Amino acid sequence: MATLEHGTPETPGAEARDSIAVENPATGEVIRRIAVTPPERVAEMVARARAAQTAWEALGFDGRARVLRRAQKWLVDHRDEVIATIVAETGKTYEDALVAEIMYGVSAFGFWAKNAPKFLEDERVRAASPFVAGRKLVVRYRPVGVVGVIGPWNYPLTNSFGDCIPALAAGNAVVLKPSEVTPLTSLEMLEGMRASGLPEGVLQVAPGYGETGAALIDEVDMVMFTGSTRTGRKVMERAAKTLTPVSLELGGKDPMIVLADADLERASNAAVHYSMQNAGQTCISVERVYVEEPIYDEFVGRVTQKVRALRQGEPHGPGSVDVGAITSPAQLDIIDRHVREAQEAGAEVLAGGHRAPGAGRFYEPTVMVGVDHSMLALREETFGPTLPIMKVRDADEAVRLANDTEYGLAASVWTKDAAKGETLARRIEAGAVCVNDAQLNYLALELPMGGWKQSGLGVRHGAAGIRKYTRQQALLVTRFAPTKKDLHMMGYRAATTRVLGALVRLLYGRGRRD
Ligand code: NDP
Repeated sequence: MATLEHGTPETPGAEARDSIAVENPATGEVIRRIAVTPPERVAEMVARARAAQTAWEALGFDGRARVLRRAQKWLVDHRDEVIATIVAETGKTYEDALVAEIMYGVSAFGFWAKNAPKFLEDERVRAASPFVAGRKLVVRYRPVGVVGVIGPWNYPLTNSFGDCIPALAAGNAVVLKPSEVTPLTSLEMLEGMRASGLPEGVLQVAPGYGETGAALIDEVDMVMFTGSTRTGRKVMERAAKTLTPVSLELGGKDPMIVLADADLERASNAAVHYSMQNAGQTCISVERVYVEEPIYDEFVGRVTQKVRALRQGEPHGPGSVDVGAITSPAQLDIIDRHVREAQEAGAEVLAGGHRAPGAGRFYEPTVMVGVDHSMLALREETFGPTLPIMKVRDADEAVRLANDTEYGLAASVWTKDAAKGETLARRIEAGAVCVNDAQLNYLALELPMGGWKQSGLGVRHGAAGIRKYTRQQALLVTRFAPTKKDLHMMGYRAATTRVLGALVRLLYGRGRRD
């Protein structure tokens, strides 16, 4: 399908809509040109997936787990090639690709292979109602059929391909539409899945633009979308036409609260790392910091010094740079707009504050103070290597500001008093809150990860993160019926109705009430 043209210079954006020229954002070079799946071809792909799904489901948990475990081994063995692809199409550092993509992927294969049966096996339940006494009651999870995964460009393995793993483990076929900016990792993972014994048609990749994603929504039985809140709304609107369920993991504006009794060195290292990691292009990166007055100057000083020391540029293997490129062309403009607008409104830039010169797409690691909530940099997702820091009077003001947002993806609280930290964490309106850490909750696949408010709908990870790829079926099986005609059946007689009435009093009318 795809022709490989390493290093061919091309004019970005000049390509026709029937192909994608994949660029290395760190160099501006086109590394490969691939064919687009046009929207008209999507129905055919989904039909193929539907045909392949039956046998895949019939393999059962053990058969599917064998393929997933082989894929885990494949990824371990081919990690260098996959890292090279991720780094080339995103411009991220070697470490960002290793830690947040490969390590996530290998752990996810093992986690879902092991836990899919635990989360999806038939559940026997008992009911309180006397009408069902003696019956067998079962909750059954049946795969939805074909799942459409629509992914973003910031984590082509973790956030695009990663969602295919639980969907497949549950017994579904999947059609993946990766971002037009980063389709190569998904294509490589598809090869890895084939090499690991995944039957043809069970996973297909449909590289394309937004319209290919939109067409996919019309055909599949469930949509897993990761991306912007704006596009997430469009996805949900489109899915409403066919009443197709959606799970949406959208943008965030994650706050970090640093209390006066925090370990300043650890908190400042974390503020730098979790805002600059992946050049800030992480849905759960630290996007804004609130620091209590007594330690504010010291904290800002440490953070600024550390950010100025970061090395940025084209990654050349392990340890070569700390901060990589900005993956999507449009993102560079958003980051710059947030910084410029804040500066014009009175913010002070203590480090960075500019696009970096050269052929690649880079934005200097940036620290800003003198910011407030009237600025885009504090309100909208910047998704770049920027860290705006605000001084607050106390923890209450910090929580109020942390919650003053339309987003609610993740947050963190920093204090040596872990109990106080946990109490504050419970007051923050976000799907995940860490105390004296940030982002690490994402690696605990046992924990649900999902946004509140405008940050999303549904979760990935945990039991709910795989049950969403299934339909629940309630089964009631009566093996032995004690009577030929039950008490509630027609042919009503006053005597039996009186027994039913007495039952109401007997079952629900006794006991003391306050
Ligand atoms: P989008 O949300 O637009 O894109 C995400 C995916 O949806 C891509 O595969 C995209 O395809 C596809 N898509 C676009 N339009 C439609 C549609 N109408 N129906 C179905 N699928 C569609 O991300 P952007 O690149 O525009 O990023 C914008 C902002 O989103 C960023 O500035 C950032 O704030 C946020 N973002 C958040 C992410 C997260 O992890 N939560 C990840 C990425 C971005 P295509 O790429 O071809 O347009």
